[in-house]
Amino acid sequence: MAGPTSSPVAIVTGASSGIGAATARRLARAGFVVYGAARRADRLAELGDGVHPLVLDVTDDASMVAGVERVLEEHGRGDVLVGNAGYGSYGSVEEVPLDEARRQLETNVIGLARMIQLVLPTMREQGSGRIINVSSMGGRFAGPFGGWYHASKFALEGLSDSLRSEVAPFGIRVSVVEPGAIKTEWGGIATDSAVEVSGDGPYAERVRRMAKGLSSGIERIASSPDVVAKAIEHAATADRPRIRYAIGAGAKPATVAARVLPARVLDALVARGVG
Ligand code: NDP
Repeated sequence: MAGPTSSPVAIVTGASSGIGAATARRLARAGFVVYGAARRADRLAELGDGVHPLVLDVTDDASMVAGVERVLEEHGRGDVLVGNAGYGSYGSVEEVPLDEARRQLETNVIGLARMIQLVLPTMREQGSGRIINVSSMGGRFAGPFGGWYHASKFALEGLSDSLRSEVAPFGIRVSVVEPGAIKTEWGGIATDSAVEVSGDGPYAERVRRMAKGLSSGIERIASSPDVVAKAIEHAATADRPRIRYAIGAGAKPATVAARVLPARVLDALVARGVG
């Protein structure tokens, strides 16, 4: 057991891949004691010496409780929580089974909220802490066949806004990171789920077109996960962290368009893309 430490301690969920892996490595280089959390222990082991593997599932309460207890026992503090674990469950609202919809919300929203509940008492006692929630540009606007994913990210945006005001008097800052298109395992998981759910049903052709467009778009323009990790490092370390970071390919134009354009114009733009 390492014992209490004076180094800042960060927990990064979804650290076995993509944005979370890049973030865990970056925060370790920046001097944090980093715990990288995910289900796949073998992938966490590949992160190297600077990152402590924390095997947990954000849909399993007992594993989250045990994981956070271990960090607090080993280091006696918790300074940064990066809520990044998540996936894209795609398919039409008509066809995605509600059990899958529940799994999507459980992973992307409830699990993230539970991790926050578990670290907050320590952050309040310390009188400091940073909570950094990884949303998406898809937390600001919604396209077709991503209903439950968008629902989860819109929920995360609202939750984070409430939380920010609640914990500010305790010296705790809350930031939301809204990645654009990023080269990770996310795209494959999202498109596979959409194609599987649509089968040869009434949405199949449009879903296939959407999946092809998403894959080729990611292939052509997507940013490296480290671009997002850099923004997360800023949120973790800057004196004045931003409330929102729209970052990576397409994120700024998409979030600005969602804010300023009328819904009908947005719908027309989406229709041109997916039909
Ligand atoms: P990856 O698929 O590469 O990584 C997702 C991570 O989440 C993995 O480490 C996975 O680990 C973890 N995870 C998934 N389910 C669980 C679970 N039940 N318990 C614990 N960990 C879990 O995707 P990204 O790096 O791209 O995704 C990170 C975040 O960024 C997600 O929230 C995603 O929605 C968001 N995002 C991604 C974008 C992109 O274009 N890539 C765009 C906008 C937002 P394991 O399977 O080992 O548990």
